[in-house]
Amino acid sequence: MRPDLFEAPDYYNLDELLTEEHKLVRDAAREWVKREVSPIIEDYAQKAEFPKQIIGGLAEIGAFGPYIPMEYGGAGLDQISYGLVMQEIERGDSGVRSTASVQSSLVMYPIWKYGNEAQRQKYLPKLASGEWMGCFGLTEPDHGSNPGGMVTNFEDKGDHFLLNGAKLWISNAPFAQVAVVWAKDENGRIHGLIVERGMEGFSTPETHNKWSLRASATGELIFDNVKVPKENLLPNKSGLGAPLGCLDSARYGIAWGAIGAAMDCYDTALRYSKERIQFDKPIGQFQLQQKKLAEMITEITKAQLLAWRLGVMRDNGTATSAQISMAKRNNVDMALKIAREARQMLGGMGITGEFSIMRHMMNLESVITYEGTHDIHLLITGLDITGLNAFK
Ligand SMILES: Cc1cc2nc3c(=O)[nH]c(=O)nc-3n(C[C@H](O)[C@H](O)[C@H](O)COP(=O)(O)OP(=O)(O)OC[C@H]3O[C@@H](n4cnc5c(N)ncnc54)[C@H](O)[C@@H]3O)c2cc1C
Repeated sequence: MRPDLFEAPDYYNLDELLTEEHKLVRDAAREWVKREVSPIIEDYAQKAEFPKQIIGGLAEIGAFGPYIPMEYGGAGLDQISYGLVMQEIERGDSGVRSTASVQSSLVMYPIWKYGNEAQRQKYLPKLASGEWMGCFGLTEPDHGSNPGGMVTNFEDKGDHFLLNGAKLWISNAPFAQVAVVWAKDENGRIHGLIVERGMEGFSTPETHNKWSLRASATGELIFDNVKVPKENLLPNKSGLGAPLGCLDSARYGIAWGAIGAAMDCYDTALRYSKERIQFDKPIGQFQLQQKKLAEMITEITKAQLLAWRLGVMRDNGTATSAQISMAKRNNVDMALKIAREARQMLGGMGITGEFSIMRHMMNLESVITYEGTHDIHLLITGLDITGLNAFK
């Protein structure tokens, strides 16, 4: 892969909306990605392996629990800083951002919000430092878009719970020490359980043959009569709203992350358009190529404003789940379209690993599918504005 020459576009001077702390956090993440991720990520994606050596660095830039209070090892940052860190990581690779999102919003967040003090003390500092990695088991083989139909269940056996079932498409599963697993009790109510690697009957086979998020490890979680200690139940929230609360936090991060992937594709295509000569001119001089670039920067600017405003509302505590859905859906779709256009602008070179665009494009096919598909987020907006439920 070529040297990382990335220059972030800021067409509307949005830096003026950021505090000094926001910019410091973002710039530290940006430099780290340039130094530690860009030089290696193409190789790891090609060999379909997560680069575990970057875990310590991810922890250092605050990517594990950016908004978790410092007393639990988190970075204690606000939501805009969290978003900016996700943007910078996904500028490098959506798979690496996925690892950070899962750790922060799908593992640390439920332990922080729904766990008791002993669980917070036991797990959060180790997850914040990257000493332990976590995964989040919601999706099942027969229940993806409708997780409420899940069949994974646990029975109360007096001194422990007995967990049975299976989860599919679980990011970080193959190497995670800790899994936050959603399962139904005898009354059909959904609860979160913390399952640890090494518990008898718990296995995590890896999912192979992915053409997307190749630098992120994905696997199954299989529970065959797993005895889970009773103190591993998250006591402070149950029902489908509990996992959906985690998804709100992760989807918000994705709305920012997708901007990072889009910025990288745009920046690469812009630079290439000035260097690549055809018909004795740089291709950037042709109107067709300018149209592509002009539309890209317009869409990126709109997405940046959407994410920033959502961040302000998250910090005020006023952002709704439906507003988060809109931003996740819009920004990922925007990034995927830009990746496809940018890839064409590079001609044949666009399909190679010399440039990051094709990797971003393939990664974004997962990002537009997980954490609620493109269709599901549209239906969430539809429900919100009409009051009529298309899911029933
Ligand atoms: C790489 C990767 C990593 C992932 N990581 C995790 C993870 O860490 N943890 C986790 O729990 N899950 C994870 N997922 C799972 C992901 O969230 C699901 O794939 C997603 O929710 C969609 O579920 P599904 O694949 O079963 O598709 P389905 O739900 O079967 O959907 C198939 C199609 O039907 C459409 N559809 C479904 N219902 C409706 C409806 N009511 N109206 C209209 N259209 C509908 C969908 O939009 C989609 O186009 C991951 C997935 C991938 C690909």
